[in-house]
Amino acid sequence: MIDSVDTLVIGAGVIGLAAARRAAASGREVVVLEAADAIGTGTSSRNSEVIHAGIYYPEGSLKARHCVAGRQALYEYCESHGIPHKRVGKLIVATAEEEAPALDQVRAKAEANGVDDLTSLDAAQVRDMEPEVRCFGALLSPSTGIIDSHAYMLALLGDAEADGAVVAFASPLIKGRIEDGGITVEVGGAEAASVRCRHLINAAGLDAQKVAAAIEGFPAEMIPPLYYAKGNYFTLAGKSPFKRLIYPVPVPGGLGTHSTVDLAGQTKFGPDVEWVDAPDYTVDPGRASKFYEAIRRYWPGLKDGQLQPGYVGVRPKLAPQSATNADFVIQGPEAHGVAGIVNLFGIESPGLTSSLSIADAAVTSMAIAYIYDSA
Ligand SMILES: Cc1cc2nc3c(=O)[nH]c(=O)nc-3n(C[C@H](O)[C@H](O)[C@H](O)COP(=O)(O)OP(=O)(O)OC[C@H]3O[C@@H](n4cnc5c(N)ncnc54)[C@H](O)[C@@H]3O)c2cc1C
Repeated sequence: MIDSVDTLVIGAGVIGLAAARRAAASGREVVVLEAADAIGTGTSSRNSEVIHAGIYYPEGSLKARHCVAGRQALYEYCESHGIPHKRVGKLIVATAEEEAPALDQVRAKAEANGVDDLTSLDAAQVRDMEPEVRCFGALLSPSTGIIDSHAYMLALLGDAEADGAVVAFASPLIKGRIEDGGITVEVGGAEAASVRCRHLINAAGLDAQKVAAAIEGFPAEMIPPLYYAKGNYFTLAGKSPFKRLIYPVPVPGGLGTHSTVDLAGQTKFGPDVEWVDAPDYTVDPGRASKFYEAIRRYWPGLKDGQLQPGYVGVRPKLAPQSATNADFVIQGPEAHGVAGIVNLFGIESPGLTSSLSIADAAVTSMAIAYIYDSA
């Protein structure tokens, strides 16, 4: 491995790959360190693969801004790079009259975020569009879609490599130290090495706090706490009953037990929200009863035995269960005072949708570091 580089990106999930592509495109020499032996083995391959419209997030939040900007950039990127995706649209359903005000709140939030293409539907209109769905009323989001996230990550990798970036697999960052004009990182794995970089983008997902803490001299008080909220999925045996994604009105901590479909036609329900002390990727089959109950509120046709344990993704939460959802943290030198380091903390949903926009922000923040240390 080379012993010095302009930009080191930690993590080859969707965020690290998007940041590497962006930095390499702006002429920087980039190396990505990835602990695993392939790209996207973390949360980036354990999600719903939904391109979110940007509906639910607080006005002005980073989640709202990056989701809306990232969604537009992502659709363009998919089209220009031939990445399988589909604007399937999504219905947000109120299953009873008392949930109808929640739809108004969702619509108001969406409009505040610049998402102005939602339309209101009554029960009969929904039945015409989705005969299996029972509800009191709904909102249709036409700009919600689905994407083949692995094809997307491969395209990001291809772009980054075409601009000279290199990914070192099985190469975990073990520790680092801040030095004049840069950071020196100790890399583990079979080819243990020491690499000096001018800029470091920490896109280690669930391990972002661990990576920041391993850098000697980085202010500990700038590292936010981390909580894990597991999201379990159950898959549906058989053909999808819906053409669109079906979401109930949101619940605290998550988006309710919703139905999504992937590009291969597999319908899945979830993720639910299960707070855990450490990442754990097993689905407890016992949770199925709660799924049946929640799904039957909008799809009474679901039969016993149709749900099977699917998979799990773990959200890197920055606030505990008792608190309201925290925003993304894109933390550059202007926030923590250390030239060259950009930390990406709490990149939960809609991180996949937001990835191109987050990458822009991270690399811009890194450029601020450059101005700092050349001053
Ligand atoms: C249940 C669930 C559903 C979701 N659904 C959606 C959705 O439908 N739409 C959407 O927009 N977003 C969704 N998201 C969010 C999205 O999946 C994430 O925001 C995104 O995948 C985060 O990517 P990442 O690159 O930050 O993390 P990761 O994909 O986890 O990548 C981090 C990488 O860093 C590596 N790493 C860790 N430590 C080190 C180290 N010391 N040295 C080197 N490498 C290291 C890991 O091996 C890993 O490959 C969902 C998230 C969850 C949990």
